[in-house]
Amino acid sequence: MSIAPAEGTAMGVCDVCGNTYDKMIAVTSGGMVGNFDSFECAIQAMAPSCAHCGCRVIGHGVESDGRIFCCAHCAREVGEHALTDRA
Ligand SMILES: [Zn+2]
Ligand SMILES: [Zn+2]
Repeated sequence: MSIAPAEGTAMGVCDVCGNTYDKMIAVTSGGMVGNFDSFECAIQAMAPSCAHCGCRVIGHGVESDGRIFCCAHCAREVGEHALTDRA
């Protein structure tokens, strides 16, 4: 994932909340591109959700069998015992 100031335009419209803002941030991740007025909106749109507790995974997270968890604890709760926190 890379984060960079949106180029060119002075004003942009947030993909999530529709707010117009003059310092947009553009986020690209895995081929998706989003333009946001805040990191809060970027997280809302781009961050995966923990497969166990549903919280937004904005840190390292852990991944197993294509599922993403916020922490190794959540992975263990659903039976993934091989994982440990990497953070
Ligand atoms: Zn927004
Ligand atoms: Zn979790």
